Amino acid sequence: MDKNLVLIDNHVFIKPEYLNHPYVSGNKLRKLKYNLMEAKKRNKAVLLTFGGAFSNHIAAVAYAGQEHGFQTIGIIRGEELNEQNSLNATLSFAKSCGMQFKFVSRDVYRNKTSESFIEQLQRAFGDFYLIPEGGTNALAVKGCEDILTEADLKFDYVCCPVGTGGTISGLINSSHSTQKIIGFPALKGDFLREEITKFASASNWELITNYHFGGYAKINEDLIQFINQFKRCYNVPLDPIYTGKMMYGIYDLISKGYFKEGSKILAIHTGGLQGIEGMNKKLQQQNKPLIV
Ligand SMILES: *Cc1c(COP(=O)(O)O)cnc(C)c1O
Repeated sequence: MDKNLVLIDNHVFIKPEYLNHPYVSGNKLRKLKYNLMEAKKRNKAVLLTFGGAFSNHIAAVAYAGQEHGFQTIGIIRGEELNEQNSLNATLSFAKSCGMQFKFVSRDVYRNKTSESFIEQLQRAFGDFYLIPEGGTNALAVKGCEDILTEADLKFDYVCCPVGTGGTISGLINSSHSTQKIIGFPALKGDFLREEITKFASASNWELITNYHFGGYAKINEDLIQFINQFKRCYNVPLDPIYTGKMMYGIYDLISKGYFKEGSKILAIHTGGLQGIEGMNKKLQQQNKPLIV
């Protein structure tokens, strides 16, 4: 038995990728690994990427960039934010790692992949290695193929939260055809299946789309209560955006008899714990129970 796995009950195990770093999501570091090697190979000094103000990806790029000697630039959604008065925990951390920000309106942000916007950024910042929002590209998927090991072949199901689909694509590519990979999208939308098909080389996967709790970063008291209870029971912290929703989904599916009897389930805890502080600030303003 892999000693790093956390046993939750007889047949549910957690792969604690959140222990890879105290602040940076485990899967985001995996997604960056081969991209940073590529950026070095191309002699790039600067990494530029995109994200919202609470983005795990922004925190990860800032941290990994500093660690590997890159300058980092974050294009942040929301021009109402600025350095003087609105650096939340995520952005303060990124800034402390040396990340430079450019805040743009939601309209401008929507065009972030357009050629004219990229050219405009190149005129402003010079040459850079571009990492897409959420960090998903072919090299990121390759990094996520390293998550599963030989020892994980004994699991019948491998579950993970889904944002842009990079992580699950890597898991699919490194899984065995007898295993089933189950993704729990943290947001609404049907675009994900297409996105995953672009990167994944097999079809032994499924998305369970009923546990997004209303959309990205949307939550309710039921979810918060589940997260707190889970931590009390198993001493495993869950984040409210990704891993909390996945775990809630797994337990709900177990109670409905979704999984084959006697099967073994591996849940990938991708991290995201840095987002708890920001969520608690919002909950506090609404006088709601906090994540403990
Ligand atoms: C980004 C993120 C995900 C989603 O990963 P994708 O590769 O974008 O699907 C899942 N969990 C955590 C904690 C994340 O930060």
